[in-house]
Amino acid sequence: MPMKLIRHRGNNHATHTAIGPFGRQEFIWGPFNDPAGNDLVEVPDWLLENGKFREALRKGVYSIEVDSSVAAEQLQFQSDFHQKRQAAADAAVISTIDTSTNRDMIAIPCIGPGARAGVACGINLIVAAKAKDDTVPLCDTHAHLRNHLVQVPTERNDPITGKEIMTWRKVTVAQATSNPDDIHQSS
Ligand SMILES: [Zn+2]
Repeated sequence: MPMKLIRHRGNNHATHTAIGPFGRQEFIWGPFNDPAGNDLVEVPDWLLENGKFREALRKGVYSIEVDSSVAAEQLQFQSDFHQKRQAAADAAVISTIDTSTNRDMIAIPCIGPGARAGVACGINLIVAAKAKDDTVPLCDTHAHLRNHLVQVPTERNDPITGKEIMTWRKVTVAQATSNPDDIHQSS
């Protein structure tokens, strides 16, 4: 079917409904200079025979795009614009997935004893955010303390995951050795 490119020159979206050989058909234009390029729409030649549409053409609401190179460029632009928007939407979805799977790496300070009493070692350990509660955060120097630490709940919930935040507590020497008889009796 022969087609014509029609540019809309109004400031808002425009809709034109007309009866063609295949029944009622609706054509929709974006505003003039639409960033998506939708002010230019390809229409079948029969629409130009439609009385109301001819009147709109005469009033300058629409114009026929005669320069075929401009027309081809515009159609390419519309296609590129659509693809870019699709790519941006895809990227947004991917970043959402990345967040929800919590694949990010985070830094956790070593909780081993530091240089001064009462201060932790604090060397940063890089771990996967979702695995941060799986192992005791200890640097290589303090890794041997692993068996002296137990994981205890903090009774606070992570605002993002809703899970209870866990922390590591030292099994103190006092508890373990002050009453060795108790341990023997209970075992
Ligand atoms: Zn350390």
